[in-house]
Amino acid sequence: MPFSYVLQLLLVFVTYFFTGRFGLTFGPVGGFATLFWLPTGISLAAILFGGYRLWPAIFIGAFLVNLTSHASLPVAATIGIGNTLEALFAAFLLTRFLHFHNSLVRVRDLLVLTLVAGPLSALISATIGTEALYLGHTISYQNIFSTWLAWVVGDILSNIIVTPFLLSWSIRFSLSKLTFQRIFEAVTVTILLATSYLLIFTDIWGIHGKIAPITYLIFPPLIWIALRFGQRTTATTIMLLSCISVWSTRLGLGPFVKSSISESLLYLQTFMGTVAITSLILAGVVHESNELEKRKDEFISIASHELKTPLTTITLLLQLLKRLQKKKKEIQSLELINKTESQVKKMADLITDLLDLSKIQIGKLELRKERFAMYELVQEVVDNIQRITKKHTIIIEEQTKKKVVADKERISQVLINLLNNAIRYSPKADKIIVSLKATSQDFIVSVEDFGIGIARKDQEKIFERFFRVKDSDNKNYTGFGIGLYIANAIVRKHHGRIWVQSSKGKGTTFSFSLPLSNRIRRKILPLK
Ligand code: ADP
Repeated sequence: MPFSYVLQLLLVFVTYFFTGRFGLTFGPVGGFATLFWLPTGISLAAILFGGYRLWPAIFIGAFLVNLTSHASLPVAATIGIGNTLEALFAAFLLTRFLHFHNSLVRVRDLLVLTLVAGPLSALISATIGTEALYLGHTISYQNIFSTWLAWVVGDILSNIIVTPFLLSWSIRFSLSKLTFQRIFEAVTVTILLATSYLLIFTDIWGIHGKIAPITYLIFPPLIWIALRFGQRTTATTIMLLSCISVWSTRLGLGPFVKSSISESLLYLQTFMGTVAITSLILAGVVHESNELEKRKDEFISIASHELKTPLTTITLLLQLLKRLQKKKKEIQSLELINKTESQVKKMADLITDLLDLSKIQIGKLELRKERFAMYELVQEVVDNIQRITKKHTIIIEEQTKKKVVADKERISQVLINLLNNAIRYSPKADKIIVSLKATSQDFIVSVEDFGIGIARKDQEKIFERFFRVKDSDNKNYTGFGIGLYIANAIVRKHHGRIWVQSSKGKGTTFSFSLPLSNRIRRKILPLK
């Protein structure tokens, strides 16, 4: 027998036995059915993680816990069989039929564990155990149902609380970066949770009965944890909270205290079960959506890199072709090549936007700051755009000669985006006004058009990723809805601001500000 296997058996047995003995001190119904029963969750997690071969540890653990609690030999053995079957059946159901993943990465894993396999397997051990107690004359006929109920509830709760807790710690994980903000958030939520606990269970401020029931105060901190700290922290918090509240209730504290411990625990555990399922599922949903988001970002990054390479080759080949056709003086072919080139340029711009988007997402957009005269940059960008824009005249209204410290390329990218949007979304107008102002603290650049405008409700979302206005005026324009998101990220990275003023059907003014007192930093600044 390999040593590691023996060690695993020993570990499961010891944890099972001692937590079991401890659980039986919490006023078990019929002497054996306790509502605070950690072994069920421990044995399920053990089988899921270590395999069916760990069953002997569970059987011996359950057998000895009951034997040392004055059950007769056949009763203890039967209960042992019931408890072992319970874990084996739950694990079999989960892995064989319910396609369960131990990492609990999907919400469905939590659902099948807590709502299907957990309750169904609890029925097995509760039925076998209660039957054994009745046939062994340990409980009377009248006590069968109450014993069975306590057994079922205790085991279900264990599967809901203990199994996710253990599974969440049994998988590999990397520590997330500890920032001051994160620590502050963790401390705040812990204080909130502790306060809710004190309010609910100890009534140290004497408000019980004076206001509406306050049991539900436990939800806000738990929801916060589920939303922001992931499944492992949620499962651990629930586990700790459950143990502390069972202990408090046993000491006669809190709103769940009834005439007997078992009755009190029945009320408490039903509440804790609901709390646990809700929080764990919420944490699961958040985890799943974060994962999807990550995968989407990765896809965008890979796709844009892969698309960029052939496009660069196409551009080079087109230039070569152009030179050849020029030599041959093929006017018609040259025209076609020029048209192809402009389409390829459009495509390359879209891909560059996608690449920028992924850089922003992973905090890798870099700024190369330098001192330059903004009016020169504005003039240069306007001239370039004016060269290819026939319909609109771009007027530069106000000027200032002050210099700014910023990433020239990125700021020109913002300007190009605003000007291109102004042209695109004002098909019936013929002018666009650009103005440049300097206050004592900021540079303000504005681009005003007289186009379709943006409704008030959409203005709030205009800088969000992938947002595009969905109304009849906008349906003829294509785009990814990322230009303004990138512009916003660039401006904010410069510690500036971007905003919009618009009136539907009349026109739009986009403005951005850059702080004037910005020292040059020689090193490249990554965008966080
Ligand atoms: P795209 O134009 O590629 O969809 P943007 O992020 O640049 O992406 O713009 C997002 C949305 O904002 C556009 O789809 C459009 O509905 C709206 N929008 C942007 N600029 C203007 C403008 N000057 N006038 C009216 N609507 C605009």
